Amino acid sequence: MMALGMTAKSQVKIGFEVSFIEPQAHYAEVQMDLSGLQKEYTDVKMPVWAPGSYLVREFAKNVEGFTASSAGKTLKFEKIDKNTWRVFHAKANAVKINYRVYAFEVSVRTAFVDADHAFLSSTGIFMYPEGMLKSASTVKIVPFKSWSKVSTGLSPVAGQQFTYHAADFDILFDSPIEVGNQDVFGFTASGVKHEVAMVGGGNYDAARLKVDMAKIVEQGTAIYGENPNKHYTFIVHHFLRGGGGLEHLNSTVLGASREQYTTERGYMGFLELVAHEYYHLWNVKRLRPVALGPFDYDKENYTTNLWIAEGFTAYYENKLMLRAGFKTGEQFVSGLATALANVENTPGAKAQSAAEASFDAWIKFYRPNENSNNTGVSYYAKGEVIGLLMDLEIANATKGKKSLDDVMKAMYEQCKTLKRGYTDAEFKAMVEKISGISFTDFWGKYVNGTAAAEYAKYFGYAGITVKNENEGLKVPYLGLSSKRTEGKIYIASISRNSAAWVAGLNVNDEVISIDGVPVEAIIERMPAITAKKVGDVVKVDVVRDGISKTIPVTLTASPNIKLVAEINANAKPQQIAVRKSWFGI
Ligand SMILES: [Zn+2]
Repeated sequence: MMALGMTAKSQVKIGFEVSFIEPQAHYAEVQMDLSGLQKEYTDVKMPVWAPGSYLVREFAKNVEGFTASSAGKTLKFEKIDKNTWRVFHAKANAVKINYRVYAFEVSVRTAFVDADHAFLSSTGIFMYPEGMLKSASTVKIVPFKSWSKVSTGLSPVAGQQFTYHAADFDILFDSPIEVGNQDVFGFTASGVKHEVAMVGGGNYDAARLKVDMAKIVEQGTAIYGENPNKHYTFIVHHFLRGGGGLEHLNSTVLGASREQYTTERGYMGFLELVAHEYYHLWNVKRLRPVALGPFDYDKENYTTNLWIAEGFTAYYENKLMLRAGFKTGEQFVSGLATALANVENTPGAKAQSAAEASFDAWIKFYRPNENSNNTGVSYYAKGEVIGLLMDLEIANATKGKKSLDDVMKAMYEQCKTLKRGYTDAEFKAMVEKISGISFTDFWGKYVNGTAAAEYAKYFGYAGITVKNENEGLKVPYLGLSSKRTEGKIYIASISRNSAAWVAGLNVNDEVISIDGVPVEAIIERMPAITAKKVGDVVKVDVVRDGISKTIPVTLTASPNIKLVAEINANAKPQQIAVRKSWFGI
């Protein structure tokens, strides 16, 4: 709906040109042409963050050489805050702004330029005139002389090489651009043309990927009943060791290791990443928390629902892999049981809820320290567990007639109809509508609370027996993780309430020996620990800040669970119906 009083669409025309004079020194040259300006001055701003990655990254720190001119005359400007340049243009209505961006941070959410290619992560490259986020713009890319290709989700302008149109800045900022000599292949699936831009080598088999990636596209589309894009672009960056991904409206950026495709495990890992990022085109890009779009590019955008946006995506990654035939039912359930155990074994899962983890992503998840596992839980990991439990609860309540898939589809439709994101209450209301039961207790326990997951009950709904293999075992442990640096072993983290915690071992202590046995590898696996009993005292020799100390530690029993899942062949009809609905195969 167009509200009365809404300002008319700006008549200002905006054009960008990005070129490369010194790519080897990691610079992109940006020119922004504005015409139709009416005020005395215009504020132009650089975003401070990249949607999907919840950290203020201060992209303005990479900008230099800012100048402004009109009809060849230099204009005065001043910087009024960390990411805003005020350009005084008086009566001139056409302004040319030039600046350079230093781009040398390797990640899926930061720009990178070198002699071989340029990855333009748009929020770190393009500025926007204040108050004009709804304005359209064109982007012309001038590749460096030895480069010949551009890959992006932006729509090309007909008849103009390497020139693209963005209907507004949300679309521009959601469309990364790869420039260079990437290998490009394509496939069509679910009626959508997909382009895959492979950057930096990689021993992939394009023919196999085309077939397998199409299966993932089809399974994702089957859940929502529609694929909203006309075209979709995968930009894949290969490194010696790489990983990670970032979702966009009709594209994604993935990181992979060049040799990753050699092993079946590595190949499946890549497909899982594809499944995760592709699923995001629905979950978070369109079916999204109300705070996540339209975005405020100037500061943190808070939501308590990243456990849905990211956690459910992590969960659905498994469902797509199962349904596309890349995982067996056994692998599916045992993978989820392990994921659940990992959350239960995180001390911070008792200290921070999924809603809190979502809200504080900006200061906690993206800024971890040595104590993070004690104070918080990943909204990916906890959200995956909530998705699992919610899915089984819905399937059980409806005797297998409905599942979380129906909720996701209905919420996607609702967001589309309302043209806005959902609130937490709206999401819960939809879960209750589809399942026909109250989820107030569930929300209290698992979303806003820190209750242990009742895994035996939930898996039992689907006729799956899940047991804790560590039940009754008293495994002696210190409760720490260690790392090797330059041949020395240091303590990397200490679990809350563990033996090491109580005895006062410190993170960064160099561990020399335990009961006189020199420490050479992972401490918890040393016979000096594993051959002992709970209650035994071990003497840990450490060097702390250059001073040797001997710290007696009374070994306690590891509280960690280890879950094994077994699909019961003789399950009851309702359990089989629940399992069928849950698996979707
Ligand atoms: Zn994600």
